[in-house]
Amino acid sequence: MKTYPIPMIPGPVKVPEAVLKACGVNYGSPDLEPEFLELYNQTEAGLRQILGTENPVVIQTGEGMLALWSALKSCIVPGDRVLSVATGVFGYGIGDMAASVGAEVRTIGLEYNRTLGDLAAVEKAIADFRPKMITVVHCETPSGTLNPVAELGKLKQRYGVPLLYADVVASAGGAPVLADEWGLDLALGGSQKCLSAPPCMSFLSVSDAAWEIAEQVGYVGYDALKPFREAQKSFYFPYTPCWQGMAALNTAAELLLTEGLENSFVRHEKAAAYCRQRVTEMGLSLFPAPDAVPSPTVTAVNVPENTTWDALDAALRKKGLAVAGSYGPLAGKVFRLGHMGTQADTELVRQAADVLAEVI
Ligand SMILES: *Cc1c(COP(=O)(O)O)cnc(C)c1O
Repeated sequence: MKTYPIPMIPGPVKVPEAVLKACGVNYGSPDLEPEFLELYNQTEAGLRQILGTENPVVIQTGEGMLALWSALKSCIVPGDRVLSVATGVFGYGIGDMAASVGAEVRTIGLEYNRTLGDLAAVEKAIADFRPKMITVVHCETPSGTLNPVAELGKLKQRYGVPLLYADVVASAGGAPVLADEWGLDLALGGSQKCLSAPPCMSFLSVSDAAWEIAEQVGYVGYDALKPFREAQKSFYFPYTPCWQGMAALNTAAELLLTEGLENSFVRHEKAAAYCRQRVTEMGLSLFPAPDAVPSPTVTAVNVPENTTWDALDAALRKKGLAVAGSYGPLAGKVFRLGHMGTQADTELVRQAADVLAEVI
């Protein structure tokens, strides 16, 4: 198998040894052994700190997309109004997902290189449309941007919107996420980004309001939230959980909390600032608009005009550097360096930038 000595893909990121070790164990049956329940509870406690919440955190076997679908399908019925606040591939995509569940979706969208600022249009839409749910993405990974979401929580409060749904998959652990302070009812995360575990676990914090609504909706599919409300109390999970994945996620959360969340945020900021500095010094241009907030976990760069993404990618890979392209309207035009989790390492970014400078 080909491995790259300089991994800079924004998820799945390089998995640390301790986490790999936790995966490679023959555990018993998670449905039968009380040790699994202890592990689940312990993992939940760690994730609560990482998400900044006192609410329960549901942990499912799957990746970030599972949490995104689970929260939507568990809380939305056909005809419900969803206000999608979108600034990128995931933001617009979540609006499409809500529509596919039958929601009446109104989108307040910005260009993909912008981040939320003045919320007058969002406020007007809330006042007119009276949504049941507002959806937003914290870190738009394909754009390399970070949306401020706390102000949306205040609007939610002011207008009595029942639910604020926030995708924090690519920020949790690498940037402050304060689910309770920001009024997030559903804060959605995945294992393979800043936590540096394999792409096999998803997790989401669930507020009282979200639980109430999930009960009313009564959705019971494989990705349903509802069975998890009593799963720990009754030690009855809706399907056999993945013990290896849970152990990996728990070890990953422990590593992060042992480092200290504040230290992790500083490490991410430093790697990101250094990355942006090197990229601009070598004459490349950043994708986010000058007044947009760049993400501390991923840097998006415009593919230079004298080459194509495919040629650039091939040349970088030949020299051991794996970066990522982008998606949707950004495919072929933008490439990304993921300095999240284990890869939020200024020395690693230095190696990546040296290769990039040489190749371009
Ligand atoms: C990675 C990511 C997800 C989850 O995608 P997966 O395909 O499950 O990895 C969701 N939202 C954002 C913003 C992400 O970066």
